[in-house]
Amino acid sequence: MQVPSQMLIDGKWVDAESLATSTVLNPANQEVLATLPRGGREDARAAIDAASEALRRAESMSAFERSKILLKAASLLEQNAQEMATIITKNVGKPITDSEAETARGVLTLTFAAEEAKRLYGQTIPLDTSPFPPGNMNRLGFTIREPIGVVGAISPFNFPLNLLLHKVAPALAAGNTVVVKPPTDGPLPALLVAKIFEEAGLPRGMLNVVLGSGGEVGDEIVTNEKVNAISFTGDTETGRMIAERAARTNKKLLLELGGHNPLIILDDAKVVNAVNSAVAGTFSYAGQVCTATRRIILSERVKERFLTQFEQAVGTLKVGDPMDRTTSVGPVINVRALEKIDGLVRDASDKGAKVRMGGSRLGYGELAQGNYYSPTILDGVVGGMEISQKEIFGPVAAIMEASSDEEAIELANNTIYGLQASIYTSDLARGIRMAKRIKAGAVMINDRTNLRWDNAPFGGIKRSGMGREGVSLAIGELTELKFVVANLAE
Ligand code: NAP
Repeated sequence: MQVPSQMLIDGKWVDAESLATSTVLNPANQEVLATLPRGGREDARAAIDAASEALRRAESMSAFERSKILLKAASLLEQNAQEMATIITKNVGKPITDSEAETARGVLTLTFAAEEAKRLYGQTIPLDTSPFPPGNMNRLGFTIREPIGVVGAISPFNFPLNLLLHKVAPALAAGNTVVVKPPTDGPLPALLVAKIFEEAGLPRGMLNVVLGSGGEVGDEIVTNEKVNAISFTGDTETGRMIAERAARTNKKLLLELGGHNPLIILDDAKVVNAVNSAVAGTFSYAGQVCTATRRIILSERVKERFLTQFEQAVGTLKVGDPMDRTTSVGPVINVRALEKIDGLVRDASDKGAKVRMGGSRLGYGELAQGNYYSPTILDGVVGGMEISQKEIFGPVAAIMEASSDEEAIELANNTIYGLQASIYTSDLARGIRMAKRIKAGAVMINDRTNLRWDNAPFGGIKRSGMGREGVSLAIGELTELKFVVANLAE
């Protein structure tokens, strides 16, 4: 299946009304992958109008018809999996094996949504008789789950397929229509998704994709009166701006934001396993995962043993071309990201952290054209260093030390974020006791921080988000519960 090079609005593949374009670059080598329309507010408005009109078509479809289309989309994605994985890798620099895994998860997300579309159940509610004269019980109260309307889906670059599907698939399953604003740095998978839904037979206008900047296309979606809900994944600061702007039209918000996820390794942990998790948690996709391990909080007693093995393991990671199956760490998304990572590493080392490994950009040989940063270990990170509070979104492990369980919990909770956390211990009860005190949307015991199951609750607390994804939960967020009472005496 060919990746389209236009936007999909009201069932038509179109250029921007202004005819503006922008190029899409491969972050591994700056190769131009495509020239795409750069839409503006007028294109966003056309897509929103189309989605609003298409609500009537959506209403006329049964849940079973929607389910069938979602299942067909899952099957088309599976048939085009290799192509999708390659596009993800070229567009956002994700190692190809990870892109394949993301694509397989995308198939699952669509399949879960197809199943859940048929489970939009309501309830009958026992009614008390207090408002009425005694004996007047002749009423039936029940709930209906209804679509919320037009959903604005604004997605980030780092999982350009599956995080988009976590918005689009539940929204469509619930009978909504959607306007998608993909990330400027990773738009190609979204265009292929739109093509897949078109081939799966989704009626015109139910899914629209508008390309363009967050500040213009994104903001139009966030502020437009005809959009009823925003499902957003991205940076905490962008989420805050969106929440402020969307409040003016009282939109429902589902926000999946940044994290500063701690991995706590207690004195009784199986260190080998903890090392494996720390490596995968910190360096997968060059640390550009919202649930990546950002801080490794070590009990004093395991610190040196852990660090010796960790250093050894990190030293074996191959940095390079993400299309190469032996690569573990590819490039970061753009030069701005490189500079931000480098700035946070410099700030920590200026304030006394020890760079045990890495700590610089890699700009030589076959890596010269790409946005590569060396896998980095910063030891002795303490409060006051920016990295102790800010999400770094790069391949950097910040090592902290705790002298007790109490101190470990305090350090873990001492940020504005609350997405995911991990605890390594051989004592399950101790792990569960601590998990209950960690302020995060999910806590893993003896596992990596960067885990997610597509049908399980997912989302952050504090500044890490609002609401929950996980297909059935996202359907709950993107529907309204209507209460109906029938007076049977009439
Ligand atoms: P981002 O810069 O916030 O961008 C996300 C999306 O928002 C993009 O499509 C962007 O468009 C758009 N946008 C930017 N400004 C906007 C505005 N004023 N109004 C409306 N839309 C706007 O995030 P990112 O760099 O792509 O992704 C990385 C961040 O996402 C990290 O913080 C990471 O932790 C978080 N994340 C969270 C989760 C989760 O589930 N909790 C999952 C993945 C990532 P442009 O691309 O055109 O700027």
